[in-house]
Amino acid sequence: MEKKDINWGELGFSYQQTEKRFVANFKDGAWDEGALTEDATITLNECAGVFQYAQTCFEGLKAYTTESGDIVCFRPDLNAARMADSCRRLEMPVFPEEKFVEAVVETVKANAAYVAPYGSGATLYIRPYMFGSNPVIGVKPADEYQFRIFVTPVGPYFKGGAKPITIRVSDFDRAAPHGTGHIKAGLNYAMSLHAIVDAHNQGYDENMYLDPATRTKVEETGGANFIFITKDGKLVTPKSDSILPSITRRSLMYIAEHYLGMEVEHREVLFDEVKDFAECGLCGTAAVISPVGKIVDHGKEICFPSGMDDMGPVIKKLYDTLTGIQMGHIEAPEGWIQTICKHGEC
Ligand SMILES: *Cc1c(COP(=O)(O)O)cnc(C)c1O
Repeated sequence: MEKKDINWGELGFSYQQTEKRFVANFKDGAWDEGALTEDATITLNECAGVFQYAQTCFEGLKAYTTESGDIVCFRPDLNAARMADSCRRLEMPVFPEEKFVEAVVETVKANAAYVAPYGSGATLYIRPYMFGSNPVIGVKPADEYQFRIFVTPVGPYFKGGAKPITIRVSDFDRAAPHGTGHIKAGLNYAMSLHAIVDAHNQGYDENMYLDPATRTKVEETGGANFIFITKDGKLVTPKSDSILPSITRRSLMYIAEHYLGMEVEHREVLFDEVKDFAECGLCGTAAVISPVGKIVDHGKEICFPSGMDDMGPVIKKLYDTLTGIQMGHIEAPEGWIQTICKHGEC
């Protein structure tokens, strides 16, 4: 298979159309088989449920080339399970989990020419999503749905090293208690857009959202979970029913405990204790971990001892171990790596 002529190192995180995408339709109470198509366009009725009442959810994962030349993806079964949870909460039909993984594999295989070579830092971002497709005007779930997966090549998240970022405590809330914060719904992002644009306008990279009920506990950012390292080397990560269960965060918790022998605490984290942590990071599929150097709470600065130049040492170890597992330098726990094309042969 001939790779596309792409300047992998210069790619950003933006949409670039590839040849094939997967489409399945749900109608009369059942999913069809689904198939790959070259048609990147969707034509829907003006009254489709997704346009009126935002009945849509999504997933995000990456395919990449390991050191041995295999094209793989990381824990797609967890994306399948999480999307099933999102669908149930939004009264959407679940796309069967095994079929989800098969469709991811099929879509990546069909676009293998867009999977960056090992060492380029670039990856193939995979975006599964689903939406209500038939007309809905009275407020109720749609009867028909479309499930799609497209892929797009994306560049290395950190060009020239991971520089610590500065975030602010947001006055906007992300997810209500007992709301939809724990699922990957488009609506959670729609309402975060104003907050992130405002944060950027004020010179911050991200928003830290606190729990809306008491504004005393750390939740997450718009698209990444928090990890903290204590001065005595424990990993602490916030627990709340309105945090999206990041697959990266769950993987880091496992690695901390089983590969690095660290103590791990998954618990409520008071904003008041944040000043006492040694290191802070944001975790998600896109960057794996973004180090946080500074948090600003209405003019009051919390500066982590790890500083503004480099990732803190413990977060660096976590980052190196997880990316080492993903790239095949370090043995992965059973079932974490899904091989799509052995030695690039698809
Ligand atoms: C997708 C997402 C994350 C990160 O999850 P990963 O599975 O690690 O990519 C974190 N927070 C929110 C709100 C998200 O939507």
